[in-house]
Amino acid sequence: PADVEQLGRSTWTLLHSIAATYPPTPTPTEQNDLKSFMGLFAKLYPCWVCAEDFQQYIKKEEPKTGSRDEFGNWLCEAHNEVNRKLGKPTFDCSKWQERWRTGWKD
Ligand code: FAD
Repeated sequence: PADVEQLGRSTWTLLHSIAATYPPTPTPTEQNDLKSFMGLFAKLYPCWVCAEDFQQYIKKEEPKTGSRDEFGNWLCEAHNEVNRKLGKPTFDCSKWQERWRTGWKD
């Protein structure tokens, strides 16, 4: 449905933007905050079937919060998992910073 898609696009924008502004060298508190946030996000995401699958994914592949690049790549892989599930093309994760942080070069 259209609202699940619009919610999805807006939410990926928020999540990838959080990755883009996450510190290159986060403190232990910042790392714990991000882990808590992702766990709670997965519970509260208001598309319940999506949330159920995402909670399972997070259990299997724990969010990597050791640095901006680690989290950005983890999130990109998580997004690709959803892309695969929905039959969408996967994204080249070496380009996540260009898409979400620094902007495309051309
Ligand atoms: P989106 O997938 O919303 O992506 C937005 C933009 O992000 C793209 O245009 C592209 O530029 C960029 N992008 C694409 N892939 C990546 C990547 N791997 N890394 C970085 N950037 C990328 N929908 C369902 O129908 N069923 C579900 O179970 C479901 N689960 C979801 C779980 C979560 C946690 C979220 C946030 C969304 C979920 N959605 C689900 C919504 C779905 O993922 C899409 O957001 C929605 O279908 C709209 O897709 P879109 O083609 O506009 O691009």
